[in-house]
Amino acid sequence: MQDKSRNSLIGIMLMFLVSCAKPVAPEMPSIPVQMSEKPKNIILMIGDGMGLSALSVGLFQSAKPLNIERFPVVGLHKSYSFDDLVTDSAAGATAFACGVKTYNNAIGVNSDTVACKTILEEAEERGLATGMIATSSIVHATPASFAAHEPLRVLYEEIAADYLDTEMDLLIGGGKKFFDRRNLDERDLVTEWRKRGYKVWDYSQAELRTIELDPSTNLVYFTADNHPLHASLGRDYLPDATQKGLNFLAERGKKGFFIMIEGSQIDWAAHANEGNILIDEVLDFDKAIGLALDFAQRRGDTLVLVTADHESGGVAINPNSSRGKIKPIFTTNGHTGALIPVFAYGPKADLFAGVYENTSIYFKMKEALGW
Ligand code: MG
Ligand code: ZN
Repeated sequence: MQDKSRNSLIGIMLMFLVSCAKPVAPEMPSIPVQMSEKPKNIILMIGDGMGLSALSVGLFQSAKPLNIERFPVVGLHKSYSFDDLVTDSAAGATAFACGVKTYNNAIGVNSDTVACKTILEEAEERGLATGMIATSSIVHATPASFAAHEPLRVLYEEIAADYLDTEMDLLIGGGKKFFDRRNLDERDLVTEWRKRGYKVWDYSQAELRTIELDPSTNLVYFTADNHPLHASLGRDYLPDATQKGLNFLAERGKKGFFIMIEGSQIDWAAHANEGNILIDEVLDFDKAIGLALDFAQRRGDTLVLVTADHESGGVAINPNSSRGKIKPIFTTNGHTGALIPVFAYGPKADLFAGVYENTSIYFKMKEALGW
């Protein structure tokens, strides 16, 4: 009896202390208690060209910790392609999408140019909702490798036509001209999509932030006729598109969803050896990562993966740098063959620890889903 009353007194004191304590946002959010055994949803985020040193540049330039620091599991992948120790984005994304090492420039085909079924196509077949968001044209190499099958990455109009072979639920990115102003044929793919019940928007009608994504139909939003601006010039839709896109797919995907989200222009900043643009692109991508992690932490049923296809620019942090004043230097205006980090959070995240081939990311995603 005495114990009980003492316990309840302690309980009241604790409640008082808790209610008086100022709410402080934790630097590292805690892992949710209710985590499902396997993921219902996969969010695969690719920072094109975002090697460890580009990430380090963003991290030490930023006044606040990055969202990337919230991940509990980290691995490394070997990015080389079938024919080159230094991969391009086409072979790099095809490795994630299909689990095959193919030649540079290949879009969703193996080294004999035979089409390989992508994880996005399999997800669609199995009744999951699917989507892609990119800050480049949506038919550029990285997204293309998840839903098109072409021997060369520059076949943009062919890639656009391939997109109508898979009933994707959500596409947000540039490249409208490859769909509705084609040289290859007389087709207007925007009209074809609308006839199939898709809602198709573009930047000239309304800014993405001003529109509601209605989950009752499949949806395409074109951010530009070809490539949108880079973040330093005011492109600011990636975090917004990520938030809206995840909510949209969660509504549509009763059996789950697969989405590929790309920070496309990190690579281009590195090609141009533009340190400030590189930082802006990495930080923009990191904001989107934070929203994906928040989404996954609320739900407990979503696996979030962040990686890159390859390193770009041979980025290094100059010895005269300090925190907040980073001077990135570049050793090339092309790609390099460095090991690439993989960050994982959510059910089955532990599969992604270790050192492995880029193609293993495909097999690990399938293993996580139990396919
Ligand atoms: Mg790309
Ligand atoms: Zn590149």
